[in-house]
Parts: sequence; C-alpha cells; structure tokens
Amino acid sequence: MSDCIFCKIVKGEIPCSKVMETDRILAFNDIHPVAPVHVLIVPKEHVATFNDVGESRGEVLAEMYRAAQTIAREKGIAETGYRVTVNVNPDGGQIIFHLHMHVFGGRKLTDAMG
Ligand code: AMP
Ligand code: ZN
Repeated sequence: MSDCIFCKIVKGEIPCSKVMETDRILAFNDIHPVAPVHVLIVPKEHVATFNDVGESRGEVLAEMYRAAQTIAREKGIAETGYRVTVNVNPDGGQIIFHLHMHVFGGRKLTDAMG
C-alpha cells in the first residue's frame, strides 16, 4: 500500500534499525521503545490487521512467531522473559494499520503495553 508507513520501511523508502529479515518478514527496532528491547515484526506483504490473516497467510504468522523466538534469544531475554503482542484495531491500541507484532523485554513488564 503506497501510503502505509510499514510498507515504505519494507521497501527501504523510510529507514529502520533492522533486527532481522527473511523473504517474508522484516523485524526492526521500535522508534519509541517502551522497554530496553522493543522490536516490531511485520510481514513484507501488506496485511492491515490480525483480523485479515486468513488461512492462506497462516504461514507468515508462524514465521513471525518464530522470528520473535529468535530475536528474544539473540537479545538475551528468552530466559528472563518477554511479551509478544499484536494490537488489533482502535480498542486494541492499533495505530499503524499494517500487521505487526511487538516483542518487549529487558525489564519486568507491568501492563499490557509494556
Ligand atoms: P501499534 O500501536 O501497535 O499500531 O504500534 C505501532 C508502533 O509503531 C508504535 O510502537 C510506534 O512507536 C512504532 N512506529 C511508528 N513509526 C515507526 C517507525 N518509523 N519506525 C519504527 N517504529 C515505528
Ligand atoms: Zn503496509
């Protein structure tokens, strides 16, 4: 989608602090981190919300969860603990309408958004 900020990051039109990348997903540091580790994982293909993930895209969701595990291990928070969150639509706190997973960690997390 041409006016989507995360599509622009995927295309390299907006810079990001990349954490990992595969053919289907990109992970980068959140620009306003709420915890010492705060990484976003996005599918490269535009999907607006978690509600829009149908069976045909189930594999990309699995890949996002695998990426979260890898990132947690590489950032050294797998054992201390972390949280994987997907905000869905306005009441869920979703501000950017390109599916993304937050990975928070590096401190004791207290509330839903870290
Ligand atoms: P959400 O509220 O789940 O839609 O989260 C959107 C997240 O994207 C927020 O945590 C923002 O800080 C983050 N964000 C917005 N713009 C950028 C950007 N250009 N690079 C990295 N993270 C961003
Ligand atoms: Zn997009």
